[in-house]
Amino acid sequence: MGHALVTGANRGLGLEFAHQLLARGERVIATCRHPGRALALTRLAGEHPGHLVILPLVLPDTRSIAELAREITTLDLRIGLLVNNAGMLVGGERFGTIEAKALQDSFAANAAGPLLLTQALAARLERAKVVNLSSRLGSIGGSESLHSPSYAISKAALNMATRQLAHALAGEDGIVVAISPGWVSTDMGGANAPMSAHDSVAAMLRTIDALTRADNGRFLSETGAPIPW
Ligand code: NDP
Repeated sequence: MGHALVTGANRGLGLEFAHQLLARGERVIATCRHPGRALALTRLAGEHPGHLVILPLVLPDTRSIAELAREITTLDLRIGLLVNNAGMLVGGERFGTIEAKALQDSFAANAAGPLLLTQALAARLERAKVVNLSSRLGSIGGSESLHSPSYAISKAALNMATRQLAHALAGEDGIVVAISPGWVSTDMGGANAPMSAHDSVAAMLRTIDALTRADNGRFLSETGAPIPW
């Protein structure tokens, strides 16, 4: 079985993905911006000797992505599951003061990053499932108010990147989906969120395990229910 690669794995949902994948015996490549500061991940590596590789990745930095791809090739690792989890949200946006930088940074991290990383790792993907962590805020059909526009627009772009990647990888038996994790209590989701990272990731892993070729290019909730584009 190939490795599972999780981006943004030093905290939040990414760290929980690493926890749960390791707990069920999988081999994990966990990426984060600053491995030297990723204490929880380092502890996890000690608890699962030989099962966790921690590598640096800053999205969508071209050199950083290329270095990660090179390292994975040098280590001759194959990837069976790629979780494009890393993402950012600019809080407190109001119409009238939305900033170009917020839009650009959100698009770069949330949409361009996952697309470019998946492209760079394509040769290492082995009949892989690629999971892009999207959001209901990225659903154009479900949009009912002005809410975090930079983030919402970037996640809508990620949804299109999901469809594009689904076409690109279909020939290699890849399955590419966008999954919304629900509203989850993390640094991003905040303390009022109703769902724990544990429960969200457990539900997403059940959904990911059940994915078939028929799901390629779909936008799903954490429990696998379809979400309108
Ligand atoms: P957190 O803010 O808790 O963690 C975000 C992670 O992404 C961190 O590891 C962060 O690294 C990393 N990251 C952010 N920007 C970059 C970048 N440019 N390059 C590399 N790494 C980066 O978020 P969550 O765990 O809550 O969210 C995980 C995913 O789930 C995101 O894609 C988010 O949009 C999505 N999501 C979350 C929801 C929620 O309610 N929590 C709801 C809907 C979607 P660092 O520590 O270095 O900053």
